[in-house]
Amino acid sequence: MDTLGVEPYMYEPESEEESDVEEQPVAHRLQMTTSEWCTCGNCDRMPQERENICCREVPQVMRRMTQVPEEITCMIDHPGLEPVCLNIYSLQNAMNIYRADHGQLRIRGMERQCRHLAYRSFVSWCWGFLG
Ligand SMILES: [Zn+2]
Ligand SMILES: [Zn+2]
Repeated sequence: MDTLGVEPYMYEPESEEESDVEEQPVAHRLQMTTSEWCTCGNCDRMPQERENICCREVPQVMRRMTQVPEEITCMIDHPGLEPVCLNIYSLQNAMNIYRADHGQLRIRGMERQCRHLAYRSFVSWCWGFLG
């Protein structure tokens, strides 16, 4: 895995409460084209500096990618992504788990709620814990 040529990057899953005081990465990817830092070929430019990270730079995500029999270059192609994170019934279950732990999800809009829950499922799937 040393041959990917990616910079080491401190990546921590986001915690529930977004804090603006966290350190910014040194590289200013907002000023780069995505191909300068993305090695999976699927990353899009994101509005936040810290969101501009390639799936192949995150060891926990890379680990999941190496667990499938066929070689995949991006987490988007992982066969587990849809059933674990995006499937509507998984999202329903993620909502129940969230409610049991934190009470009502205080995010407006179905789409934003789903995104948030999908993200939480992704974090717990790859990292094994939630912040
Ligand atoms: Zn990428
Ligand atoms: Zn990717």
